[in-house]
Amino acid sequence: MSVVVVGSANLDLVYRVERIPAPGETVLATGADSAPGGKGNNQVTAVARAGGEATFIAAIGDDAAGDRLEAGLIEAGVDLRVRRSDRPTGTAVITVDDGAENAIVVDSGANRTLVDLTDVERDLIAGADVLLLQLETPLETVERAARVGHAAGATVVLNAAPIRPLPAELLSTVDLLIVNEHEAAQLAADTHGAFRGRADEEELAQVLSSLGLAVIITLGSRGALVCVPGEPPAHVAGHPVDAVDTTGAGDTFCGALVAELDRSGGGRPDLGRLVDAAAFATVAAALSVQRPGAVPSIPTLEEIHDFRA
Ligand code: ATP
Repeated sequence: MSVVVVGSANLDLVYRVERIPAPGETVLATGADSAPGGKGNNQVTAVARAGGEATFIAAIGDDAAGDRLEAGLIEAGVDLRVRRSDRPTGTAVITVDDGAENAIVVDSGANRTLVDLTDVERDLIAGADVLLLQLETPLETVERAARVGHAAGATVVLNAAPIRPLPAELLSTVDLLIVNEHEAAQLAADTHGAFRGRADEEELAQVLSSLGLAVIITLGSRGALVCVPGEPPAHVAGHPVDAVDTTGAGDTFCGALVAELDRSGGGRPDLGRLVDAAAFATVAAALSVQRPGAVPSIPTLEEIHDFRA
């Protein structure tokens, strides 16, 4: 069994400030840090730590930031198919104030160059059991990868974040859509013209699954809602924990879910397999919110098993 993730990789530069600067203002940081980030990078790390066989297709710069991202991924056990671009590695400059409010500027950098898929990359995708995609890389790449995966019979999973209007053709190649509540409401409004996004989460899940795909809506500490076309949604409980930092909770959820889905067999997953995989993923995500940071907080398979024992 194998999982291929096509997606973004960034170096996050985090500055702690008393308050976020207003236009024209300079403030001194009270501390600074850098850490691997980007949804693709976070999710492939979560797949590998949750025991999945993970391959990552991405573009990073030929620079120190790129070296650092590669080293982290190798340590996590990810099979790297990463291109070195002449653009710099993508960066996110994140200012966080004393009230945990943040302001973020992202330069996609090398991620922008992940446009065409090479023959080798297409073969890797075609050979995957599960393909996991997000929306931080150019949309045409996401569409191409989904088409190749779908045609070859891979289970295609799209985490539609950051949310944007999605072509119907892309959605027709996706088996499972994972979104949070905000993304679900926005996508339902985009895909159903008359729909105004005022529905509750069960209604949203059913509206989206009526597009012909399985849907999981993550609900923060409340867990997740799983829906397949034509069946009532099933709720998967969250785990009450003392959350210190929810950054990357959604990415941990997606990666862990896909690792567990891959272990449970191939093809389009039914409600039972999705519910089981979501139960596994809510444990992984609950562990991650108890530790600071995105990548550093992603749990291992052993930690997930210990929590469930
Ligand atoms: P983020 O953007 O913070 O990464 P998200 O908005 O994409 O997250 P959420 O629905 O907030 O997604 O969280 C994803 C999953 O993480 C949830 O389904 C849940 O399993 C877990 N989770 C999030 N917050 C908490 C919490 N406070 N306590 C326990 N589990 C949590």
